[in-house]
This record gives sequence, C-alpha cells and structure tokens, in this order.
Amino acid sequence: MTPVWIDLIYLLAAVLFISGLKGLTKPRTAVRGNQLGAIAMLLAVIATLLSQNFSISLILLGIVIGSGIGAVLATRVQMTEMPELVALFNGLGGAASVLVAGAFLVSVNRSLVASSEMTAAALSGLIGAVTFSGSFVAFGKLHGLKMIKDIRFNGQQMANFGLMLICLILGLLVVMHSSWASYYYWTMAIFALTLGYLMVISIGGADMPVVISLLNSFSGLAAAATGFALGNTVLIIAGSLVGASGLILTKIMCVAMNRSLGHVLFGVLQPSEATASADEVYVNVKSTSAEEVAMLLEVATKVAIIPGYGMAVAQAQHAVRDLTNQLLERDIDVNFGIHPVAGRMPGHMNVLLAEADIDYARLKEMDDINSEMDQVDIAIVLGANDVVNPEARTNPESPIAGMPIIDVDKARTVIVIKRSLSPGFAGIPNPLFSADNTLMFYGDGKDAIQAISKALDEG
Ligand code: NDP
Repeated sequence: MTPVWIDLIYLLAAVLFISGLKGLTKPRTAVRGNQLGAIAMLLAVIATLLSQNFSISLILLGIVIGSGIGAVLATRVQMTEMPELVALFNGLGGAASVLVAGAFLVSVNRSLVASSEMTAAALSGLIGAVTFSGSFVAFGKLHGLKMIKDIRFNGQQMANFGLMLICLILGLLVVMHSSWASYYYWTMAIFALTLGYLMVISIGGADMPVVISLLNSFSGLAAAATGFALGNTVLIIAGSLVGASGLILTKIMCVAMNRSLGHVLFGVLQPSEATASADEVYVNVKSTSAEEVAMLLEVATKVAIIPGYGMAVAQAQHAVRDLTNQLLERDIDVNFGIHPVAGRMPGHMNVLLAEADIDYARLKEMDDINSEMDQVDIAIVLGANDVVNPEARTNPESPIAGMPIIDVDKARTVIVIKRSLSPGFAGIPNPLFSADNTLMFYGDGKDAIQAISKALDEG
C-alpha cells in the first residue's frame, strides 16, 4: 500500500478516535463511542502492518488471535473485575512501549538516528517501565492480592527521587552514546521498573484513584513517545489522546479528593495505626430489618441513595431501580448521591445505574446532594463505606483525611446496607455505623434491597 493511502487511513482512524472519545462523554452515546474507538484501532493496526509489507494471512492470524483473547476477557471478566482489567491493560501498554522502543534501538543504525528520536525512545522506555510495574502493583491492590503489601520505610521519598535521577542520567546516556545506547536503555528500564513499584506500593486509600488515572495517562504518553521514535503518526495521535485524557482525569480526581499530585506521589504516608480500632468505634451499633426500613420509607418524603463498591459486587442496580420506581409511585422524591471515587474506577456507579436505566437526572454530584442532605429523611448507603466515612473530615491522621465525602450523617436517618462491619478499600473503621441516627441492615446489597421492596409492597 502506498504511503499516501496509509496516511489517509491513519487520518480516518484519528477522526474516529476523537469521535469515539466524544461519544464516551455521555452515557447515551458511550457504547457507540466505544465501537468507533475499536474500529479506529482496527484500521490503525491493519494500516501499520500493511505499511511494513506483512502478508495478509499473517495480519488475519494476528487479528484472530488478538480478537479471540479480547473476546474471552470481555465475556469472562466480571463487571467488578473491570478496574483490575483496566490496570492490566495500562501495564501491558507500558510494557509494549518499553519493548518496541528497545527493539527500535537494537535494530536501527543508531549513529544515523536523530537525537530527538533517541530522546523519544528513552522517554518511552522510562515512562513505559514505570507504568508497567506501577500498574501491576495497582492490579494487585485492587484485586486484594495478599502478596501486595504496603511497603513504607524511612527515606522512601529520597529513594524514589534517587531512582528517578538515575533513570534520567541513564536516559541522557542513551541519547548521547549511540554505541552503548541499548545497554543504558535496558539498565534504565530496570531502575524505572523499581521506581514504578516503589511509587505505587505505598499508596492506598483515597490516593489510589489518582494513581490509577495517572498510570492510565502514562501508558498513553509512553505510546506517544514510541510513535515519535518510530515516526508513526497514528501512534502519536492515539497515545496523546490517552495521555491527555488521563491527565485531565487525574486532575479531576485530585480536585475531587482534595489532594495535589505531589502529595499523592511524594507525600508523607500515615501509618494506619493512627486511626481508632474497630472495637473502639463500633460500641454503639444498632441493626435493623427490611420491615423496619419499609416503615421508615413509607413516611418519608425525600430519600437519597448513596451507592458504593458493594452495589457493584452485589449487582444490585436493577433491584435499586425497582425500589426507586416503587418510591416514586408513592410520591417520594428519590435522588442518588454519586461520589467521584465510589466503586473501583471513575464513573463506576454512573455506568451501573445507567445500565439499569435509572433516570440520569436523578444522579446528583457530591456537592449537589450534600447541599440538600439536611432535608433528606432517609439516606440509604448501599455498599459504600470510605466515601461516607466522617473520619475524612475529623481525623487528620486517617488515610482518607481531607477527602470530601457524601455527608449522609446529616440526613435524619441513615440506613447502611452491607454484609458486616468490615472496612472498605482504605481498611479503616467507619464511625458513621455507630452514629445515633444510623441503622445497619446487614446482608447482600441486592437481597437487602429486594427484601425492602417486598416489605413495602406487603406493608
Ligand atoms: P469501599 O471499598 O469503601 O466499601 C465497599 C463496602 O461494600 C465494603 O465495606 C463491603 O462491606 C461492602 N460490600 C461488599 N460486597 C457487598 C455486597 N455483596 N453487598 C453489600 N455490601 C457489600 O467502597 P466505596 O465505594 O465507599 O469507596 C471506594 C474506595 O475505593 C475508596 O477508598 C477509593 O479511594 C477506592 N478506589 C476507588 C477507585 C475509583 O476510581 N473509583 C480506584 C481505586 C480505589 P461488607 O464486606 O461488610 O459487605
């Protein structure tokens, strides 16, 4: 295929990538946006392989193998495991950039390569390796792997700065010393892997969402750098789109979590012993039943539902829609309070509630629902924990300190639906559960909501 045709296909792919991203900004157009992105990626891959004069049968074989793996992952992976899958994809994207840029350095006549391309290759290796190891640690943390334990030691920040400095010096040597470039490159990649590991291993609680979106952005930046090294325009465009959207998301997450990026990456970490023990916090916990909750709902005029990760685990969104409809039929006003980091990935709750066809107008952002919380008769906390934990406001030593929360404690009555008093992602007790106006309804999220619906019907 002639270079003009390749460029035209790349242009079409770029337009489709951008239209796809635009589609992803609204729940109604998100599926179409995703499809456009997939078509764009298919075009970009085919055009790139054709530009390298690969045989059509090899291209088809690659597409069948790749699509097969993708199809198995898409159908087998549970919705609750999606965040882990995204972390894995980020990591693999980073690894691909390291390997491609490394292969580029091995295969080209380095004395003829411009220093800008060598710089791009070095950056690709550095950012890609940090992304790879960081994303795998994030995967382990999201998956709750026991072997991934927080590591904190004195001088950790200095060690990270030192590793960063070594990587930069080795990167400079890659650019300057063409004959040893490959050796410097792989040594830099090993140091960068260690840096990615150490940077993410100590992060937890409210800082995790910020790190995950940053790693997402890094995977795009690494790909864009590889595109510069190879002179591949569509890789530059696709990588820049991922890098830029990831950075925007990181900024949104930082604002939502009330943290600066510097604090997340290099802040002083608080030991978890700084929070009170569960025994101290849960002295005054009161439990309730479906029938009692139904009786409270019958006399309510304003209800707020605050979903969290447990709603995703229980797949309770359809039961929630049915309960919402029941309440609306009784002229009870129902709104949802959506915390920006509820669940395990950005927009997690929005996706689930949209899947259940819950009216989008009823989904209120944190600030909006908080401004009316003191008029709410019943706040139903469904499988949420960290995002409603008042410790964030009161305990500066807490791993979620400073994170804005949904102020359910200001509602007249709070019903918390979860299976036990176990902590959430941040691993800390929640004083909300023993507050005077809180009643705990223990059980699986879906079963509990269905039981309340049934009790309302029978009441
Ligand atoms: P949490 O992780 O704080 O709490 C979830 C709660 O759900 C648990 O306490 C659990 O309690 C309960 N639960 C689990 N399964 C069920 C079930 N089947 N039925 C009912 N309840 C269930 O979730 P939040 O959404 O409140 O907070 C999100 C946390 O995740 C934050 O700390 C955030 O920083 C972090 N995070 C968010 C990311 C994002 O992008 N959104 C990414 C990475 C981390 P029990 O076991 O007792 O039922």
